[in-house]
Amino acid sequence: MPQTLADVLVPLPLDTLFSYRVPDGMTLVPGQPVRVPFGQREAVGVVWGLRAGEGSNLKVLSGPIEAPLLPDPLRALLDFVAHWTLAPRGAVLPMALKLADPDRPETTRVGVRPTGTLPRRMTPARERVLAAIADGAVRQKRDLALEAGVSAGVVDGLVDEGVLETLPLIDPKPPAPDPDHAPAALSDAQRAAACALAEAVRETASGVPAPVLLEGVTGSGKTEAYFEAIAEALRMDAQSLVLMPEIALTSTFLDRFAARFGARPAAWHSGVTGKKRERLYADIASGAAKVIVGARSALFLPYAKLRLVVVDEEHDAGYKQEDGVHYHARDMAVMRARLEPAALVLASATPSLETRVNAERGRYRHLRLPERFGGRTLPQIAAVDMRKDGPPQGRWIAPPLAAAMEAALARGEQALLFLNRRGFAPLTLCRACGHRYECPNCTAWLVEHRFRRALVCHHCGHVERTPSHCPSCGGVDTIVPCGPGVERIAEEAAALFPEKRVITLSSDFPGGAERLRAELDEIASGACDIVIGTQLVAKGHNFPLLSVVGVVDADLGLTSGDPRAAERTFQLLQQVTGRAGRGDRPGRAYLQTYQPGHPVIAALLSGDAERFYAEETAQREAARLPPFGRLAALVVSGTDKDATHAHARALVRAAHAMGVIDADLSVLGPAEAPIAVIRGRHRVRILVRAARTRDLQGFLRDWLAAGPRPKGNIRVQVDVDPQSF
Ligand code: ADP
Ligand code: ZN
Repeated sequence: MPQTLADVLVPLPLDTLFSYRVPDGMTLVPGQPVRVPFGQREAVGVVWGLRAGEGSNLKVLSGPIEAPLLPDPLRALLDFVAHWTLAPRGAVLPMALKLADPDRPETTRVGVRPTGTLPRRMTPARERVLAAIADGAVRQKRDLALEAGVSAGVVDGLVDEGVLETLPLIDPKPPAPDPDHAPAALSDAQRAAACALAEAVRETASGVPAPVLLEGVTGSGKTEAYFEAIAEALRMDAQSLVLMPEIALTSTFLDRFAARFGARPAAWHSGVTGKKRERLYADIASGAAKVIVGARSALFLPYAKLRLVVVDEEHDAGYKQEDGVHYHARDMAVMRARLEPAALVLASATPSLETRVNAERGRYRHLRLPERFGGRTLPQIAAVDMRKDGPPQGRWIAPPLAAAMEAALARGEQALLFLNRRGFAPLTLCRACGHRYECPNCTAWLVEHRFRRALVCHHCGHVERTPSHCPSCGGVDTIVPCGPGVERIAEEAAALFPEKRVITLSSDFPGGAERLRAELDEIASGACDIVIGTQLVAKGHNFPLLSVVGVVDADLGLTSGDPRAAERTFQLLQQVTGRAGRGDRPGRAYLQTYQPGHPVIAALLSGDAERFYAEETAQREAARLPPFGRLAALVVSGTDKDATHAHARALVRAAHAMGVIDADLSVLGPAEAPIAVIRGRHRVRILVRAARTRDLQGFLRDWLAAGPRPKGNIRVQVDVDPQSF
């Protein structure tokens, strides 16, 4: 029976597949990108299934698009993401489908070389071109014109006369990584881990290996260990994917890879665009690209033969996508590896509680690298009790920290001051009348950004010039900053150490991720003395000259209502303090705190991570929070406050009317979201907590189908396993 009907998924926010008749004589396979008639126009889509049937009432599929197929495991992953996140399948499809833009002209670069013919007429400009090209090498047209100092027209004229001939320039294929290029001499612990990882890669030939948690303090050599798993995949002629938080993808990492394998891996991130992106997509689909290092979006590429997935810094909150489709890349990586099958390695110095529990319950294999490589010691961590040893009013760097910085700087080492707060000051007010500068669109204070001379809302991006007089009382120059942001710390550091080079790194850094990556590489090579940064600097960088880390406000993350607040703060501070002493100098870290006895601070000081995790795990279990229970958040938003709240209440009533709510499935709220208004939209939150034995997604689907339809501009956003509150 011929497969005469095709069920096609289109990249629109719809869950349905659309059926078409396959024209006679056309052979299609599942995963094939196609053009289909859609309403009055044509749409692109992907064949999700083929079947036999009549379908005389159906439209006829237009034809295949010349583009890589989406292989079975990738389509299954997309189905799973849609199922898990409750996003329509069509909304998930664009994450995987990267079609070339047919409207964009093919920009093949053109080269020219001399033919030996002499020009009919010689001019000084032509002479310069001929002199430039006398070596007979192929050059790009534009480069040749530049080199000879002539306009492009002169070169074109010579081509027309047959003096030069054109030929397309093809970028040479990058060399393939070689598993045996320069293997490291591994420590015993590394070798044991590397062998186990390589074994897992080999196991993919016959089944699905258990996921592996590779836990080891920063600098213990986890990267070197998983490089051996990549080597094993290369020997099997298979592909490897290494996921990293976007900003950790620096050229330092790529160079280190190149030193081991003799070639750089392919990098897939937001900075790779245009033709380069298209070519890489095709190389990934053909299997020509062997090792791909990428941000979370690299999980949805059409790998030809993927046998290893590494999630580096697996605890990183950046793996959760918080707009569009709300998926967690780490969790989806587990699924993709199972579907391929590929070996899965979760690497971290501070694994997430979820991953730890999975390892403790035997669902994951647990490999440990307990010590820093090469006998380097972990930094000694000390608390600076701000109640006794704090700096004078209006300053934020306490004397003990300043003294340690001074000593390090005098030895030619670097210091890092960490504060997870952008801008100059988190709150700005008028000293005459107490007026607080607030965002007109959000329930949030405006943050002073002194370098930009602006007040900025960190939630909607609202920007206004820092006013010269108070809008409330008219006072002139009465504006006062309250509390510190990184810019203010930078100012203080510059005043303390006027001779030293200070750099501030936050997401406000101009030029985007690419410039920031370049800057991180510069810092690693010693281009500055004092780094002031937000959590951006915590992520996986290696600064060999850094010996002192100061955490300006260690209490900062502890007060939020988020159930993961303690875990997050512990991970972040462990990560940040671990930046110190990764080269051959010992490191020291200082935690400025008003509560040195807090369990998180105490655990960091004692280094007793096990005890901290054990207590945290017990608390989560008692509260039936993840991973011992499952959570989903519904955020109802709209411009009309009353209508938004009314819709949320109606949704909760609808949930209760379903008669399935009990101790194992509860609906909490509605309550105002922590930031009650963003961009002029009121936000109300409903939380759902379910025992692991309950079908959370099934309940959510039934509930949304049974509940009231949102009216006007009211929207309901579902976030399964929300990461922040
Ligand atoms: P992690 O990924 O656990 O933070 P890395 O793999 O980055 O640790 O290793 C920390 C440092 O030690 C790096 O500078 C790395 O080059 C070095 N290193 C680790 N293992 C070896 C080894 N077997 N031989 C030489 N240098 C190593
Ligand atoms: Zn705002």
